[in-house]
Amino acid sequence: MAQISRLLRNARDSDGSRDHLTFCCPGCRKYFSNIEHGLPMMERHSVIVRGPGAWGYNGDPEKPTFSPSVLLRTQYWDEANERWIPYVCHSFVENGRINFLEDCTHELRGWHELAEWPPRPEITEI
Ligand SMILES: [Zn+2]
Repeated sequence: MAQISRLLRNARDSDGSRDHLTFCCPGCRKYFSNIEHGLPMMERHSVIVRGPGAWGYNGDPEKPTFSPSVLLRTQYWDEANERWIPYVCHSFVENGRINFLEDCTHELRGWHELAEWPPRPEITEI
């Protein structure tokens, strides 16, 4: 996976059939940073931009637009209460911003800036 802008990383399926772009979601980042044993992978959402099932993409890694909406529907294990919690993040990404819809189970609604990728760890020469 390569970083192509402050907002996006790209990846290709091992068989070369599909390209993906991955962004960091501010709604999921905030939500999962607030729960015990936060799940950092949960803030990353990927869309297929080339190949079967591709989303529409405006080709601008600085101000991406994807269509249609990005829907993440999953569940996670709540260790403290020993139960599965249903989780939904549903948004439109337009011009580098993200618009959270009413069915999100996290607290963000409406328009927000996309989250930047955290810096990669320094590689130390030995
Ligand atoms: Zn999200």
